[in-house]
Amino acid sequence: MTKISEIYHTKPAPVLSFEIFPPKKEGDIESLYQTLNDVDPLALGVDYISVTYGAGGSGNNIKTRDLAQYIQEHFGVTALHHLTGINQTPEVLQDQLADIKQAGIENILALRGDLPDADYVNAYYPYAKDLIRDIKQFNQFNIGAAIYPEGHVDNPVTGISVAGVKEKVVSGTDFLISQFFFENDVYYNMQDALKSNYIKVPVSAGVMPIISKAQVERMTYMIGSSLPSRLVKIIHKYENQPDSLKQAGIEYALEQIHDLLNHGVDGIHLYAMNRPSVLKSMLPVINQDIQSKSLDFP
Ligand code: FAD
Repeated sequence: MTKISEIYHTKPAPVLSFEIFPPKKEGDIESLYQTLNDVDPLALGVDYISVTYGAGGSGNNIKTRDLAQYIQEHFGVTALHHLTGINQTPEVLQDQLADIKQAGIENILALRGDLPDADYVNAYYPYAKDLIRDIKQFNQFNIGAAIYPEGHVDNPVTGISVAGVKEKVVSGTDFLISQFFFENDVYYNMQDALKSNYIKVPVSAGVMPIISKAQVERMTYMIGSSLPSRLVKIIHKYENQPDSLKQAGIEYALEQIHDLLNHGVDGIHLYAMNRPSVLKSMLPVINQDIQSKSLDFP
């Protein structure tokens, strides 16, 4: 399969990817496969699918590798295996990297992982940059890392941490994926900051459609993202009409993506939350939007 940074550098249009997570219940994996089968990601121009990794011993870690391998072998789409440093030692990491490589996976999204409590420190991998350095030394993987347009929730400073991104790039990051955001200006400000600091690594813009009120409350609390008043009004208007809220949330996200594509982003990364409705209704529209952008390229 392809190294993801090569896709960014060679594709004459923005890169399209989406994130899924390994289901906790055994039976749910079959319905996820069925959804992916129905969607046919390759036909819809999906360049890669990222598979999350449960930090803190959620038991999903082998499932990440298995799901990533399945995606490559059954759907012909490049997989991005997420990996966290928070629960690693160098010895375990070496074995795990060898195992991931053996499964035919060439791309890893290297993350610190969320701290179980504020005082927790992993002596080997306190930050993502430390994990990135060791994966780079293993010399077999293309490496992605996370970027936060509004700043990371643990960091009291609002806005992108240019120093933090530089450390990740120096350690060996080949491409970046952003946390989701609901106000595109936040992303454009981040792009300006990266450009003026000569950070040229490709970045995909993360977009998550709002599909329920509970989801938005949980997510914005967890990542500390701001909600523009237009979106707050949509949530307020449809708070007792779940189907209408979902539809309006998907439309809002598609508008966001359209505007991002018009601003020439390197890629769109959809937080699909394993939702068939999100994948089925959004991917064809985004693909068409991207196709029309490829006509703009020489
Ligand atoms: P880091 O870059 O290490 O940053 C963590 C904190 O440390 C930040 O506050 C940063 O400002 C600070 N920091 C960084 N470097 C330094 C330094 N040198 N000195 C002082 N402070 C520093 N979590 C999962 O468990 N599994 C997943 O699959 C997963 N996938 C994700 C995918 C994406 C695209 C994103 C955006 C996030 C994902 N996460 C996942 C969540 C992520 O693990 C958390 O946000 C985590 O708290 C931070 O991870 P990081 O890799 O960005 O860490």
